[in-house]
Amino acid sequence: FIVVDRVCKSFGAHQVLKDVSTTFNTGEVTVIIGASGSGKSTLLRAINRLEPHDSGTITIGGEPVGDDHHLLQKQRSEVGMVFQQFNLFGHMSVLDNVTLAPRRIRHTQRAQANEQAMALLRRVGMQDHAHKYPWQLSGGQQQRVAIARALAMQPKVMLFDEPTSALDPEMVQEVLDVMRELARGGMTMIVVTHEMGFAREVSDRVMFFDQGRIAHDAPPAEFFNNPANDRIRAFIGRMG
Ligand code: ATP
Ligand code: MG
Repeated sequence: FIVVDRVCKSFGAHQVLKDVSTTFNTGEVTVIIGASGSGKSTLLRAINRLEPHDSGTITIGGEPVGDDHHLLQKQRSEVGMVFQQFNLFGHMSVLDNVTLAPRRIRHTQRAQANEQAMALLRRVGMQDHAHKYPWQLSGGQQQRVAIARALAMQPKVMLFDEPTSALDPEMVQEVLDVMRELARGGMTMIVVTHEMGFAREVSDRVMFFDQGRIAHDAPPAEFFNNPANDRIRAFIGRMG
């Protein structure tokens, strides 16, 4: 569904993505791991055009990611993104955070948007907190709301960039559980994470980034049980 073809990206003289090519298929859950600075976030941001790439092509459902604003708006509604920092709007209630994009961009009527939002909040176990503000919630709760907010645009793909890295350990699992349910429901997902348990149990593929390249890409059983090289073995060892 998302095809990345020979994508390069530099920041000044520093080349961060080096000829990256891969395909993310519909319904597939891909976990991306790799050292800090290896280009994982940059790839996700390029897919969403938060960061324009220098060369190569990225297509979403056959359509190129580029500067066409009309197309970009459509693509951004098809691709939901959840960041490490939850980025909820602090001055808005949980319900308003979730209904904002459908109301602004889809022009969904408030009553209908509220109804859809409540269904999503139920799905992430946050239905009892709809009228609270972000500062009244734990990190894990905020992140579950951020997931519901991304789902409100009914995306075809969800990108997660270290969604549990900023959470206290006891809150990590509640967020991973929501992600696991999404995967079970057939959502196409690309997840940058250090959660090796999630990678093993939930993903279809594990992709290892090394200095701007996809150094290895394999099903989790193979990736973890039979590491392709010493760098990967060492990385897995550090991550547990
Ligand atoms: P981490 O695990 O720490 O999140 P990452 O694999 O996500 O790392 P990226 O965020 O993709 O890495 O960054 C890759 C490299 O690009 C890093 O060296 C980073 O400093 C650099 N970089 C990223 N964004 C910018 C930017 N806007 N301007 C300049 N350099 C950047
Ligand atoms: Mg990153």
